[in-house]
Amino acid sequence: MTKIKIAHLYPKLLNIYGDSGNILTLKKRCEWRGIEVDIDEINIGDNIGEHDIYFIGGGQDTQQIEVAAELQKHKEFLTKERDRMAVFLGICGGYQLLGHYYQPCNGEKLLGISLLDAYTIAGNKRFIGNVTVKTDLIENETLVGFENHSGLTYINGSTEPLGTIVIGNGNNGQDKTEGARFKNVFGTYLHGSFLPKNPKFADYLIELALGIKPEPLDDSIEDLAHKSLLNKAY
Ligand code: GLN
Repeated sequence: MTKIKIAHLYPKLLNIYGDSGNILTLKKRCEWRGIEVDIDEINIGDNIGEHDIYFIGGGQDTQQIEVAAELQKHKEFLTKERDRMAVFLGICGGYQLLGHYYQPCNGEKLLGISLLDAYTIAGNKRFIGNVTVKTDLIENETLVGFENHSGLTYINGSTEPLGTIVIGNGNNGQDKTEGARFKNVFGTYLHGSFLPKNPKFADYLIELALGIKPEPLDDSIEDLAHKSLLNKAY
């Protein structure tokens, strides 16, 4: 039987706005297709080990401080994992730590692990509300979710946005970009959680991890959830 190994990074610290729903989505969408899933919760002090998919959720500045320090210990390993095309998904605070650094409003700059050519500086207002993104990553589709962040993220070099903002602020509220991708590393500000409302993107991550396109599922309920947010600011 085909099996996918998922590492859930630091869920005790970075799991805001139901971000662990992304893990549940990947698990169920694999199991509904008869694909076995192993999920390893990686906490502070744990070794990580090789996985097919790495997930890191969002969190407040305080939790990011502890996780940022821990991630530095695994930077070399995770860079090797990125370069062998393992799949990563970072949400908001987790996304910020996949870049070069996050400079919070107060306190020291938090070093990221530079899997993405991106950096984040806290702005003086919080971006809060629903987001709709136009993306060509998946059959000219849209991505929807909920954002709540003060960080302004700027991407460079071969790191590309997930898509273009239709509703909301996204990376920085200025350049109309949302999220980031380099190799199979993906970051987004979309909470909600993200994958349940964006089933095609969830399947895209599974396809990248498996190396084969998964069989289609009946996504009528997921599509209703997607449409409930589409093009709506609140
Ligand atoms: N603390 C970070 C910010 O405010 C990330 C917040 C989050 O993960 N929702 O930008």
